[in-house]
Amino acid sequence: MPRFRPILDTMAPYKAGKSVAAPGGRSYKLSSNESPYEPLPSVLEAIAKAAREVHRYPDPAATELTEALAERYKVPAGHVTLGPGSVTVLQQLLTSVSEPGTEAVYAWRSFEAYPLMTGLAGMTSVQVPLKGEEHDLDAMAAAVNDRTRIVFVCTPNNPTGPAVRRAELEAFLDRMPEHVLVVIDEAYHEYVRDADVPDGLTLYADRPNVVVLRTFSKAYGLAGLRVGYMIAQEPVAQAVRKTVVPFAVNHVAQAAAIASLKAEDELLERVELVVKERTRVREALIEQGWTVPPTEANFVWLRLDEQRTQALNDACAVVGCAVRPYGADGVRISIGTPEANDVFLRAAADFRAGG
Ligand code: PMP
Repeated sequence: MPRFRPILDTMAPYKAGKSVAAPGGRSYKLSSNESPYEPLPSVLEAIAKAAREVHRYPDPAATELTEALAERYKVPAGHVTLGPGSVTVLQQLLTSVSEPGTEAVYAWRSFEAYPLMTGLAGMTSVQVPLKGEEHDLDAMAAAVNDRTRIVFVCTPNNPTGPAVRRAELEAFLDRMPEHVLVVIDEAYHEYVRDADVPDGLTLYADRPNVVVLRTFSKAYGLAGLRVGYMIAQEPVAQAVRKTVVPFAVNHVAQAAAIASLKAEDELLERVELVVKERTRVREALIEQGWTVPPTEANFVWLRLDEQRTQALNDACAVVGCAVRPYGADGVRISIGTPEANDVFLRAAADFRAGG
């Protein structure tokens, strides 16, 4: 038997949101925070065109997409680094700072890839409990020490929903030592409507240790093609590029992302529909008697004990709705189409009525 790294004995593979078989009817996947909409015709066209070139390696630097993003966000192209999903960029960031005995600080509960990727990078996780459903940035700042190399701030926080506000985030960034890389994970940025929540891109330009992480997987509807990126100053970008697996972002994905940026207005209209549905779902749940934290993302969070987490998950599965249970912490429900949301809301109402 080959000798594997001991850390693997302590880890389980990443568990993705599941689908459920619909009992004779339709099924609704509300378990992975994806866009509920199929790709736009213009994006499908770009994909079909790019598919004719798959006998060639892709452009390893994703030049055209990098330039399109730089143009879109008015940042230098050298600040943009792409990867096959932002989770891979996250892994590259960890790879570029990890050394034996170093630590990553992040809130918990938060994105499940943080502990996984931190462990794989050979670093130690320092998990700082949420305050209610929000980041406790004071406690996180207090957890940072000489061993800390990276801090994740997930805003809006997956799976609980709230986003970090500008004053708190700026004060936190100002407290961070320069040797600590601070990753502002904005996977759900396009769904934010609270004007007090900053755009991370306004915070990195005069802070050489700040990285903004974004993705095409959610608002841009390309989860299946795997395109994510980070925006950071040159020294960080250059370090992270050294950790890239060659040709990681394939050219079908690159083409789809470029087409999505061109069709951004249409895609952001879809985001607006999701945001409207988010308000409707949250208000309906509150009306039913649930406690639902404010959410700036494309999901809602119900904090429940272990037994009710499993029971609500099962009740949703029976009506064809896959939601995401989190052990003894609660259930996260992605916002879907109005029809899917109605099916979930009926299941939630019946669940409450049934105890
Ligand atoms: N960050 C957060 C907070 C997420 O929730 C996710 C996806 N669930 C990601 C990053 C990774 O997304 P992707 O790899 O698809 O870009």
